[in-house]
Amino acid sequence: MLPQNKPLNGDLLPVTPEEISRLLEEAAPFRRREAFSLLGTLSPRRRLTLPEAARLLATEDPMVWETAAAMARAVREEVFGRRIVLFAPLYLSNECINNCVYCGFRMDNRKAGRITLSPEQAVREALFLEKRGFHRLLLVSGEYPGKTDAGYIADIVRAIYRGTGMRILHVNAAPMPEEELRLLKEAGTGVYQVFQETYHPETYRAMHPSGPKADFAWRLTCMDRAMRAGFRDVGIGALLGLYDYRYEVLSVIRHAESLLEAHGTFPHTISAPRFKSAFGSSLSTAPRPVSDREFEKIVIVYRLSVPTAGIVVTTRESASLRERVLDIGASQISAGSKTDPGGYEEGVRRAEAEQFTLDDTRTIEEIVRMILGRGYIPSLCTSCYRSNRTGETFTEMAADGHIRGFCLPNALLTLAEYAVAAEDPDLRDKCLAAVEEGKKEMEGSPLNEAFGHKLARVIAGEKDLFF
Ligand code: SAM
Ligand code: SF4
Repeated sequence: MLPQNKPLNGDLLPVTPEEISRLLEEAAPFRRREAFSLLGTLSPRRRLTLPEAARLLATEDPMVWETAAAMARAVREEVFGRRIVLFAPLYLSNECINNCVYCGFRMDNRKAGRITLSPEQAVREALFLEKRGFHRLLLVSGEYPGKTDAGYIADIVRAIYRGTGMRILHVNAAPMPEEELRLLKEAGTGVYQVFQETYHPETYRAMHPSGPKADFAWRLTCMDRAMRAGFRDVGIGALLGLYDYRYEVLSVIRHAESLLEAHGTFPHTISAPRFKSAFGSSLSTAPRPVSDREFEKIVIVYRLSVPTAGIVVTTRESASLRERVLDIGASQISAGSKTDPGGYEEGVRRAEAEQFTLDDTRTIEEIVRMILGRGYIPSLCTSCYRSNRTGETFTEMAADGHIRGFCLPNALLTLAEYAVAAEDPDLRDKCLAAVEEGKKEMEGSPLNEAFGHKLARVIAGEKDLFF
């Protein structure tokens, strides 16, 4: 039996299976009028409670979901305005001693072409992405003691900051002890991300047959260690498709609440990765597939339950679905991604080194056009991490509607910087037209005058100006 809320090195499990199962059993679907009156009251401060989220997930009525989607979009805009954050993953290593049955990097995949980047190679990948316009990267790694541990990742973080103009680096790597997490933090990592994959212990056991990742409780308590190691911003998520999505979504929300209770801050991001088939993985289809319609519901419930979190949807998803989720609460998307270490420089696809197959393979230029075309502002901003608007401060400011006052000018400044560097004149004009449009929205902001000065400097060629 796995521990049920038993202490692990002093940490209580933040989510217990009994609590989530009970919530699911007791959740009655909403009647339409009841749902409408509840949804009408939601805001960044008045979020969906866990029992309410369970009831919404039990509700089938399409009109209720239509209203919930509209509310999710309204809440997203109250928190972040019209900006959609763009980032790219940078895969450092596909070497791994775990055996996650869904992953192409798992140890027993003998067909995988194994690659671990040196700091110099990682810098070259980062330079490639910098040229495309990215300022924030998510460093991703398999778990291989002696090769990919904290010291290696911290060296790479430092090398990329030294050798490129990258402004913030986030990390998605194995759960670590507190002292190793401190190394990552001290090297300048912004957000530390670990997905629990599944919060259902039996499913977890079946999916993670061997290696350190088989330890459910060590993974589930890692954000408490990260907070003690000095991280103020952490990212959580469940890998959708392994178990009942309702159970996973409620568990993620409970995990988010427990971070608020214990550390005063909601997670900075909630990712919604969905199972994709992977070369050499022993799982060709998802055990509990999540449909596109269900995926949309998940994004809506995450947004309404944890309004201040960045909801992340990656290139695992199709172009059309990624466009739809922008209208219902998602706030961060990746673009032009590769999941094989060294893949950006390599240029050609190497399926045998990839983690899983990607669906939306559009370039950043195409994604920027798409976001503009849908009336949003593509943002390459990294300002909060560098202005101490992190952790508790960020959660509080976001819930009070004060973050969007920074998001708009920062999104516009980074979009203008992107436009100035763009080689395609049509793309440049489209970006600058959006900046002009956004300037009108700035009127009335206490930052408007300073924004005007900074914008003029960016148009003249200066870089990295922000609030
Ligand atoms: N190795 C570390 C770990 O497992 O936590 C971090 C990096 S792992 C490469 C990043 C995430 O990719 C995993 O947490 C998992 O959710 C996701 N992933 C793995 N295989 C996948 C698949 N076949 N489809 C979609 N996502 C997958
Ligand atoms: Fe290794 Fe992570 Fe893949 Fe599991 S998901 S095999 S831990 S890289």
